[in-house]
Amino acid sequence: MNLAVIGTGYVGLVSGVCFTLGGNRVICVDKDEDKIAKLRQMKSPIYEPGIETLIEMNLKEGRLHFSSDLQESVRRSDIVILAVGTPSLPNGEANLQYIESAAADIGRAMEGYKIIMTKSTVPVGTNEKIRQIIAANTGYPFDIVSAPEFLREGSAIQDTLHPDRIIIGLDNPSLEPVMRELHQGFTDNIVVTDIRSAEMIKYASNAFLATKISFINEIANICEKVGADVTEVAEGMGLDRRIGSSFLQAGIGYGGSCFPKDTKALIQIAGNVDYEFKLLKSVVEVNQGQRFMILAKLHESLGSLQGASIGIWGLAFKPNTDDVRESPAREIVEALVTEGAHVKVYDPIAADNFRKEYNHPNIQWCAVAEEAASGSDALCLLTDWGVFKDINLHILSAGMRKPILIDGRNVYSKEQIEGTGLEYYSVGRPRMG
Ligand code: NAD
Repeated sequence: MNLAVIGTGYVGLVSGVCFTLGGNRVICVDKDEDKIAKLRQMKSPIYEPGIETLIEMNLKEGRLHFSSDLQESVRRSDIVILAVGTPSLPNGEANLQYIESAAADIGRAMEGYKIIMTKSTVPVGTNEKIRQIIAANTGYPFDIVSAPEFLREGSAIQDTLHPDRIIIGLDNPSLEPVMRELHQGFTDNIVVTDIRSAEMIKYASNAFLATKISFINEIANICEKVGADVTEVAEGMGLDRRIGSSFLQAGIGYGGSCFPKDTKALIQIAGNVDYEFKLLKSVVEVNQGQRFMILAKLHESLGSLQGASIGIWGLAFKPNTDDVRESPAREIVEALVTEGAHVKVYDPIAADNFRKEYNHPNIQWCAVAEEAASGSDALCLLTDWGVFKDINLHILSAGMRKPILIDGRNVYSKEQIEGTGLEYYSVGRPRMG
């Protein structure tokens, strides 16, 4: 099949590349010409393990193309996939301006029948809006499919090629065989539903995962007060198959380009039909507060942070990505700077993206992890990059002015900390040292 993917970001690029593996011809389209130029030189604009190898292979084999010409790309395609961003508006609602403008452009470009498949996360009813916008811009027939994306940054290729399930929302049953053929080999778990349910499945899934995270974080906060260990509690809970062990890692809360915006958008979707989603409102509130436990623990150990030297490990919202959108690190670093601390930051991949969003003369950008710790009054681990797990904590502790480690992701075990001389704070576990 001939596909055009509109929006070559984390979702569009990975989906486009993965669809070529099924023998399809894919044009990834983006209005950002620098991004397209980079991709044509086989350089990925995002950090995603394995992506550059697949880009190179498929470009050389002539199945993958990059373009900023939406009109031409739509004309040459049977299926047009919408993968543009849907960020939050200030009131939490999803900003649909990129979706709406792409839909109008697709309508204007059409010179025959097309299937329009929406991968972007969009509020219930948006695909109906997309249909109206396209219809207002073309006389040609078309069908709409809602196929929300569930990939996770950092394991996006694996998630796309082997997802737990694929959701296909449609209102024309004759599209089902086409959709099954397009996703052939990915998974047998294809759930075909109506369009509104497909749109809701995406939001409900993300809201549920966010709820699990905020739930275990509240349990962690209670564990600290009653002297229990949340990692043991989570393990004991997770063995119950009705609960499951994933998303039960206590920490400084979720971030990224999806959970924060999708939870807020679902609250708004509910609010628009006069339903107050009380549970999800609390999930968001708990998550917002959780990142500040880092500051509370710094105050507990150091008192005032004025003039203190604080090391930060990790700026990305999670490991294996360069994405810093809604990363808890942003508010933590900003708060430290505001309190007069000198902040020494290190991230293996995401520092450049972070610096574009936020910089300050009190921030020192470190080239290696140890530099952020050396001579510091405290070190805060905010992202659980694998590299931090292998650091020699004895040497680290000896090089700090005050050997205080605040582990916001519960990376280290009791055994690893014992004998290092570190004063160790984590989330929902007893303090050590
Ligand atoms: P992104 O910001 O990385 O990429 C969006 C791209 O669309 C940008 O490169 C932008 O330049 C381009 N674009 C915008 N308007 C365009 C237009 N009219 N024509 C051509 N290009 C256009 O976004 P993303 O993270 O890939 O997310 C895309 C959608 O997928 C969102 O709705 C998001 O919620 C959803 N989603 C994201 C993830 C994730 O992990 N990032 C996972 C699942 C679902």
